[in-house]
Amino acid sequence: MSRIGYQPPDPIGHPPLYDWPPRPVATLKWIVTGLMFPWGFFFTALAVVTWRWLTPAASTMQSLSPAWMGLIWLRNAALLTIVAGGLHWWLYIRRSQDLDFKFNVRWPATDSRKFLWRHQVKDNIFWSVVSGVTVWSIYESLTMWMWADGRIPRAEWGSAPVYLGLLVLGVFFWGTTHFYLNHRLLHWEPLYRTAHELHHRNTNSGPWTGISMHPVEHLVYFTVFLLWWVVPAHPVIFIMTGFFNGISPSISHSGFDEVVLGGRFRVSAGDQFHHLHHRYFEVNYGNTPSPIDKLFGTWHDGTPEAHEAFKDRRRAERT
Ligand SMILES: [Zn+2]
Ligand SMILES: [Zn+2]
Repeated sequence: MSRIGYQPPDPIGHPPLYDWPPRPVATLKWIVTGLMFPWGFFFTALAVVTWRWLTPAASTMQSLSPAWMGLIWLRNAALLTIVAGGLHWWLYIRRSQDLDFKFNVRWPATDSRKFLWRHQVKDNIFWSVVSGVTVWSIYESLTMWMWADGRIPRAEWGSAPVYLGLLVLGVFFWGTTHFYLNHRLLHWEPLYRTAHELHHRNTNSGPWTGISMHPVEHLVYFTVFLLWWVVPAHPVIFIMTGFFNGISPSISHSGFDEVVLGGRFRVSAGDQFHHLHHRYFEVNYGNTPSPIDKLFGTWHDGTPEAHEAFKDRRRAERT
């Protein structure tokens, strides 16, 4: 273990989907094992269960009401708490694997002026639940209401199973493309200073950092739902969009590259790519499934060579 923490051995590469000439077998393998396994499958299954048993009936959602919208808020808050709180308990309270696979050797700040109550975890829980879950649930509820009331285009599993199956994958590509665009906007100086700076106080992130953002950032970030106001979809897709943007960041911000679950069983957890964004700010605005950073020269693959290129670019910009 180096002084700065765990460093994955391989440079971060782009998915084979973007290779030319095409590599269909490698691409399919990547979709199943890289994109979907394990967390993509987990969130897809969770979305089906949530639509079936943890969402108000379509007839109830035909008119806006604080009662059913409140239930959606409670459900989202509970699911985020189970995932983020569970990871936090396993990795940071129980310290089940100590610093193994941890990107940063420090533990969360417990006495820092940067955070509410000088406590990073309490600060992160506050912004995630009070602002994050609320804005997420409002966007989700508005989308559900318009769907139930026939105000936006609909697709049904019975008549368009292939289309909706592809849309399940589409959630990941749309989510990561939208993330790049909204995140780049948030790094525009006035928006950065008013809003995004709050998320960046976490140079050493943990599960609760995922959607620990300023309310203005939440308003921009959760516009990811707006695509479904014009593209035909289904509530399972809306719920997945919420999970992908509301809950999965707690995994990518967990601070650990892998979670060790007893003995040799390991599950990938953190996202070194985004971790480098938290460390260096001006690299890796997107995520690897939509490698737009490659196009614009802001891709940091974690190697010393990439780091030199980043420093050169920053020097050039500042002179
Ligand atoms: Zn982040
Ligand atoms: Zn940022």
